[in-house]
Amino acid sequence: MNSLSLLKRASRYFDDYPSLAKLVVVCTISGGGYVAYADANGTGGSPPVLEEIKKKKVVVLGTGWAGTSFLKKLDNPSYDVQVISPRNYFAFTPLLPSVTCGTVEARSIVEPIRSIVRKKSIDPWEAVRTHSTHPGVVENCNFLKEVEDAQQIRQSVINSFEKASLPTLSDDERKRILHFVIVGGGPTGVEFAAELHDFVNEDLVKLYPVAKDFVKITLLEASDHILNMFDKRITDFAESKFQRDGIDMKLGSMVVKVSDKEISTKVSGNSGEITTIPYGMVVWSTGIGTHPVIRDFMQKIGQSNRRALATDEWLRVEGCGSIYALGDCATINQRKVMEDIAAIFKKADKDNSGTLTVKEFREVIKDICERYPQLELYLKSKKMRDIADLLKMAKGDVAKEAIELKY
Ligand SMILES: Cc1cc2nc3c(=O)[nH]c(=O)nc-3n(C[C@H](O)[C@H](O)[C@H](O)COP(=O)(O)OP(=O)(O)OC[C@H]3O[C@@H](n4cnc5c(N)ncnc54)[C@H](O)[C@@H]3O)c2cc1C
Repeated sequence: MNSLSLLKRASRYFDDYPSLAKLVVVCTISGGGYVAYADANGTGGSPPVLEEIKKKKVVVLGTGWAGTSFLKKLDNPSYDVQVISPRNYFAFTPLLPSVTCGTVEARSIVEPIRSIVRKKSIDPWEAVRTHSTHPGVVENCNFLKEVEDAQQIRQSVINSFEKASLPTLSDDERKRILHFVIVGGGPTGVEFAAELHDFVNEDLVKLYPVAKDFVKITLLEASDHILNMFDKRITDFAESKFQRDGIDMKLGSMVVKVSDKEISTKVSGNSGEITTIPYGMVVWSTGIGTHPVIRDFMQKIGQSNRRALATDEWLRVEGCGSIYALGDCATINQRKVMEDIAAIFKKADKDNSGTLTVKEFREVIKDICERYPQLELYLKSKKMRDIADLLKMAKGDVAKEAIELKY
């Protein structure tokens, strides 16, 4: 199921059941979001009067991808919507790495939330940033999550070149200052490394010729490959491009400590040996941690052993019934088809014959694919058009409409 259909379903849910709540809270907090839905009447209370139904309030916490997309889809005018966020704009994160090098201006990738979601009041709420717990990371590294981060990185890169141009510096010091280290070989780290390489080689070395022979970009990655979540061909292409460009990839290097001038890594397969490298600037890009607000909430609901809130396929937080979650902070615990196979069978077997024809199965397959998106993905991955192909594969040569499945 893609995120768009999830959002459609979440907002449709609110539209379909308007009498359920007087208050809906949508929280989409940095590094994730959760939707909290409160039934003000509780269970067994008297039915809400018409006036109350009209005054339902939706409170959205956060203005990132999840919150903004949710708001865009939630077009029911009977909601009284409030947005609470430390930032009053939506930022298009895929273009953040380009802002670090000035390829794209910051103002081109932000959109005021008021113009996206008109006629909604916005109250600011204090944000808390989360990053690695390794010593020195928060104090000494740059991060790339917000527009301000990208602007700060750009300024720091330029400052490094300015500093390195001072005539009083030794070559060793100049080399250190112009050593840019990126921690994390995921999409953001790799994209930033590539942008930085182009920025340095196409612009900065022309402006600061003295720096040309000293500048170096290093990418530290704890696993054996960069972009290891993608197809191997993408990884191979990126690694050989970086090699050609002279970006030093140190694979199997896990950062353990960052001081103000040195970064220490534990090299895998090297009996835990610690290597220390001098640097001028570090960008930390190893993914997102759990936001403290979410972590506290997870503790309260007994999900503290997880990294993200577990929801069902309707985005309801497990164990909470009336609380919803979406965005980076949530993961969907998808139900397995086999857990519900008896109910599916019963629904499909319209004539109560105790057997299913392909025709009967086809009639429920749309619902099944919506509820169990893994089935659609499976069919796609096996290049199958529909359930008949699946049955053919399972049972060999079977006549199209004549297949009978016994219960
Ligand atoms: C550089 C970069 C590039 C990326 N590129 C891609 C890409 O190409 N494709 C892709 O699919 N994904 C990409 N991503 C990931 C994508 O941006 C995230 O998955 C997405 O932002 C998650 O949406 P979200 O709403 O959960 O969180 P966010 O978009 O992070 O939004 C969180 C919101 O919560 C607010 N907030 C924080 N603290 C509080 C608080 N205490 N109270 C209230 N509000 C709070 C924040 O201000 C923010 O508005 C990229 C991420 C980065 C950093």
